[in-house]
Amino acid sequence: MKTEKNSFAAIVLSAGKGARMHSAVPKQYLMLEGKPVLYYSLLAFQQSVAQDIILVAGEADIPYCQERIVRQYGFSKVSAIIPGGKERYHSVFHGLVELKKRPSPPEYVMIHDGARPFVDNAIISRCAEAVREYQACVAGMPSKDTVKIADSQLFARETPERKYVWQIQTPQAFSFPLIYQAYQELIEREAQGERYPITDDAMVLETICRQKVRLVEGSYENIKITTRDDLKIAHALYAKK
Ligand code: C5P
Repeated sequence: MKTEKNSFAAIVLSAGKGARMHSAVPKQYLMLEGKPVLYYSLLAFQQSVAQDIILVAGEADIPYCQERIVRQYGFSKVSAIIPGGKERYHSVFHGLVELKKRPSPPEYVMIHDGARPFVDNAIISRCAEAVREYQACVAGMPSKDTVKIADSQLFARETPERKYVWQIQTPQAFSFPLIYQAYQELIEREAQGERYPITDDAMVLETICRQKVRLVEGSYENIKITTRDDLKIAHALYAKK
């Protein structure tokens, strides 16, 4: 795909503490075939249409990321490593603010969980194509299981038709002005005491401006490493490749 300069940037998130892994080392820095999990996400974006990568990390991990990942593996597109925030969406906002400071902010931004090492160029390209057409898109896959919506007493309340149920992944790609404005509004509302249970970036658009978000085919292998079992699955997936 032909891209103009500065049209695509990526924000790779690595500021989670990995509480569910019960490990002193956050999940994105655990080793997968001799390299930190985060390496694989950065490699995919380094080799993609993205011209600029912002890495968002825990403040204490910034020197490690700089020396042992970005410099060691030559990720030349990483232009800044910045500290994250309390929740994932705060970390995303920090990345967006960093891009906004650029003399020429990007046209589009892709936001990716550093803990998803199996993202590949095919998924990134599908997102890049869809965002140009629809302004907002997220990678995901149709659910293989039937999904039920429960009520507060844990009784099944509703069963959405399975072909319309998707499990959402990252990358999530957006027009930069659109997502920046939506996040800015969200953070302002939060400062005024409003609370939103934001778990992905598309939810910010759905909450703030009702922008339609297109679903794009990801892959069943594009898993997020959250628990020790996920790491075992990741080793098996890597061996299969
Ligand atoms: O915690 P969760 O599994 O939703 O994290 C998804 C991604 O977001 C991970 O790559 C994690 O490092 C990142 N994250 C972040 N800042 C936070 C929480 C999570 O960058 N405060």
